[in-house]
Amino acid sequence: MNKQDILQYFDKHYSDRYKAYSSSIKSEKDNYFFMAKGDKEKNLIILAPPNLANEFEGENLEEKIVDENKLIIKKCYLNHLNLSLLREIFPWLNPSFCGLKPSFGTGDRLGIATPAHLQAFKGKDIFPILAQQSVREMSRTERNWQKVLDDAIWGCFEEGYEGPFGADADHVKNIKELKEAADCGFTMFTLDPSDFISKGIEGLNEQELSQLYNKIPKNKEIENLYLNKKSKIGEQELIFDEKSLRKIILTYSEALNHVVECYEFLKDYKKGKFDLEISVDETPTVTSPLAHLFIVLELQRRGVDFQNLALHFLGDWQKGIEYIGDVKQFAREFSLHAAIAKNIEGYKLSLHTGSDKFSVYPIFSRETDSLCHIKTAGTSWLEEAKVVAMKDPALYREIHRFALENFEKDRASYNLTTDLSRIPDLDEISDNELASLFKQNDSRQLIHITYGSILKAKDDRGKYIYKDRIYKILFDYEEEHYRELSNHIKRHLELLRA
Ligand SMILES: [Zn+2]
Repeated sequence: MNKQDILQYFDKHYSDRYKAYSSSIKSEKDNYFFMAKGDKEKNLIILAPPNLANEFEGENLEEKIVDENKLIIKKCYLNHLNLSLLREIFPWLNPSFCGLKPSFGTGDRLGIATPAHLQAFKGKDIFPILAQQSVREMSRTERNWQKVLDDAIWGCFEEGYEGPFGADADHVKNIKELKEAADCGFTMFTLDPSDFISKGIEGLNEQELSQLYNKIPKNKEIENLYLNKKSKIGEQELIFDEKSLRKIILTYSEALNHVVECYEFLKDYKKGKFDLEISVDETPTVTSPLAHLFIVLELQRRGVDFQNLALHFLGDWQKGIEYIGDVKQFAREFSLHAAIAKNIEGYKLSLHTGSDKFSVYPIFSRETDSLCHIKTAGTSWLEEAKVVAMKDPALYREIHRFALENFEKDRASYNLTTDLSRIPDLDEISDNELASLFKQNDSRQLIHITYGSILKAKDDRGKYIYKDRIYKILFDYEEEHYRELSNHIKRHLELLRA
């Protein structure tokens, strides 16, 4: 039998119950594996002799004799054990090291977006980081590292993707979380040392500053390495004068110690190559070019082999909407950061909160010569919520009202300028107009930041109020889901030069 025969046979006998994803069919020797969609769920279908078929968990659909050999057609669950078996047979289903290639992260909060993401990456020379979730997101979506990774890999299988991809454990803050992510097979780790960054030093006077400064271990040693050191960066010369250097040491030295400790752990613990990103984007102040220079020189001096660096760049970076700020001024300041990275070499600049920052992408890509990484997440969720609005307006209206009730509570962990009064009154817009809410910043942010409350909401009997219905709509209208989502991610990717 060949792939065509398999499809025809399956179609003829099972099309009343399942639809096979033709792109997913893979063979190994005479065994076949593919994804099929039933009424309520997807399954892995395998055609294999009993010894192999029995290793997988599921139900036999049929036993056949082909060329005197017994062949089992089995419907298998999309669970972790079956995926592990599949990953052994098809090694391309394992995430891998990205290194210094242009890359783009597509966080997927519902865990069903990977096929759409892959469709967007088609023909682009950009390394996809398909599994990407932060610790904070996981607590809001009630998912875990393994689930995040497994969902993305099932998505690769469904799409028939055989290229490389990465798995980013995002905004990891301590060794315990690092260990858990490494155990599950993540290949990229984004260290967030923000808990160790000194805050509030802007308001201190000279005396208070020097008191704090004197408490820093090895402060003189570090100071001597950099004081009055000049670096020619592009047209500019950056100098570590005493005042700025001390402030930088005060701000970052504990955070850097933490990074070194985490890196040492990973280096020993993680088998094989891994990507490491250091992120200081969630800090109260903008990272100055001088601080950028200091962080990188210190990381290198202390032997930390990192691939990406995420800084807190100038401007107002809000979730799910365009960059707020003077783009020209951003471009000027960013060109200095890009020049520092080019000068020192060996790492990429990473942009967080990258969803929908269309005006910034061309600058980011050009200035870094595409040596950059971009992270998006919420924008995929918004496209999914938009499809709910298109296909089940009544459900969307319920969700929207619930989001309005929860907005004040949920906005606390975000930097937002959302004004709910600018959102059109739901009672005054028709079902057909609901999707247009996703073109308006305030309503985008309303749905963007309340995702955790929406997904976790349960009724008195402990049943999810919205979550299961959201999954069902996206399952029933999968074509629309994939189309809207991949088009939207394509818009992002097309602005990058790669
Ligand atoms: Zn971030």
